[in-house]
Amino acid sequence: MQIAIDGPSGAGKSTIAQAAARQLGWAYIDTGALYRAIGLAVMRAGVDTKNEAAVAACLPELTLDVRYHNGEQQVYLAGENVSEAIRTPEASLAASDVGKVPAVRDFLLQLQRDLAAAQPSILDGRDIGTVVLPNASVKIYLTATAEMRAQRRRNQLLEKGIDEPLEKVLQEVNARDHQDMNRAIAPLRQADDAIVLDTTHQSLDESIQSVVQIIMLNS
Ligand code: C5P
Repeated sequence: MQIAIDGPSGAGKSTIAQAAARQLGWAYIDTGALYRAIGLAVMRAGVDTKNEAAVAACLPELTLDVRYHNGEQQVYLAGENVSEAIRTPEASLAASDVGKVPAVRDFLLQLQRDLAAAQPSILDGRDIGTVVLPNASVKIYLTATAEMRAQRRRNQLLEKGIDEPLEKVLQEVNARDHQDMNRAIAPLRQADDAIVLDTTHQSLDESIQSVVQIIMLNS
């Protein structure tokens, strides 16, 4: 059982996918965390995340591990748990930059498929239904207006003590959408056979129940 949830940043994919996976007793695989970890590693190496050749050259040096602690995915870089460090706005943009690099996408493709094959799972990302798991049992495209997504992202950052003006967060959301939807390789788009769920006017609980229902009715 493999469920693909794709959509733009801030649509609530990770929170919703994680809660739905918990209800169903399945694994939740956060693929954005893998791109973020590579973005972080590249930044830490002092390499320009927009320099595709230099980013690709970092990959052989990279030791990326995914482990589960009490059912929660943790990402490790060279043995260090970076699950918190990858959540900054800088790491978000770095993830979007390195996600444009074909060598990075190749590097992560098999890892994502292996993680999904190991157990019944829900994966969230940008290209899960279109590239990583084209034969997923159910594909959901989760979206909301850019304004609502920026507002939610801002609240998430506030909870971590990061106070950013809404306008700046909205700019970042729009920049990431643009880059994710317009890159040459594996751009964010709705798979032809995906079910669209717009969460703009839904509470978090409503969205979680909608996703669980879609999965139960279609798998
Ligand atoms: O989902 P999250 O915001 O953590 O993803 C960070 C970035 O990683 C995205 O903006 C996107 O550029 C990239 N990504 C991707 N493909 C995925 C998951 C994430 O390109 N499957």
